[in-house]
Amino acid sequence: MDKILKLINKIKEFEDIDEFIDAKAIKTSSIVTAFWVRFKCKYACGNYNTTLDCPPYSPGPEEMSELLKCYDDAILIKCSNHEAPSKIAINLEKIAIGMEFYKAISFGAGSCKHCVKCNLKSCINRSITRPSMEACGIDVVQTAKNNGYNMVDKKDKTLYFFGLVLLK
Ligand code: SF4
Repeated sequence: MDKILKLINKIKEFEDIDEFIDAKAIKTSSIVTAFWVRFKCKYACGNYNTTLDCPPYSPGPEEMSELLKCYDDAILIKCSNHEAPSKIAINLEKIAIGMEFYKAISFGAGSCKHCVKCNLKSCINRSITRPSMEACGIDVVQTAKNNGYNMVDKKDKTLYFFGLVLLK
């Protein structure tokens, strides 16, 4: 079986992932970064400057674009709440490294909620937290669309959340 498909199938073995909807293998060329995303974080999100996984601490779109050049493949994870993508993506990252995707790195959704108040100096929980896709300048809506997913269900308006694992 294809190694990436094998990795995706591992998600079924994870515990407490009722909010998991779907995951698929994608090409990193379909991942869109955009300058405006940073401005949305800065001026339209109450989490700006509140955790080390959010801007201005997280990498911006330019840095993310450079990072994406190091990879060809990724897994995009679709969930129905904002905590599940991070949890699944980090677990997949760890398994991927064991499957010789030694450059694997993951991204979640939303702001980090692991501490009551982030110390904003040095993360004390790095093994269980990663920045969100949007915190790193990814246009999540367009990236999802490019891969056949909608962020909002057209019928019942359910909002979906996405995680990402870069693989090589
Ligand atoms: S785990 Fe804690 S220290 Fe690390 S980014 Fe999240 S809130 Fe900050």
